[in-house]
Amino acid sequence: MAGEPQDDCLFCKIVAGTIPATIVRETDTTVAFRDINPQAPTHVLVIPKAHHRDAAALAAAAPELAADVLRETQAVADQEKLESYRIVFNTGSGAGQTVWHAHAHVLGGRGLEWPPG
Ligand code: AMP
Ligand code: ZN
Repeated sequence: MAGEPQDDCLFCKIVAGTIPATIVRETDTTVAFRDINPQAPTHVLVIPKAHHRDAAALAAAAPELAADVLRETQAVADQEKLESYRIVFNTGSGAGQTVWHAHAHVLGGRGLEWPPG
């Protein structure tokens, strides 16, 4: 069911603390932690604690929670002293989504080309 922890979900396990992560921020509803395979000097993932499969499902089921995630991306950028940064929500395997628990990538600390690959 949407929002309920999933036994087979890596990010639900990070929320539960059963898999370690380098947590940089936590709120009542979100966790932000460093990506294990960083693609930029700063690469932090912001996730809702509740399980939703992707950003669109999150926004449809829990718009306030989606807003919490977006607010946290700014808080991460401030904390990491990023003047410019990119927020990415890969959606679908063709776009590179590999973890089916909604997450915002916050990327910064270097020049970011546009358009992206
Ligand atoms: P995506 O490919 O958009 O689904 O993003 C999933 C991200 O999770 C990738 O950038 C991975 O490097 C990252 N990742 C996978 N396992 C872990 C982990 N245990 N801790 C932190 N980040 C992870
Ligand atoms: Zn999950």
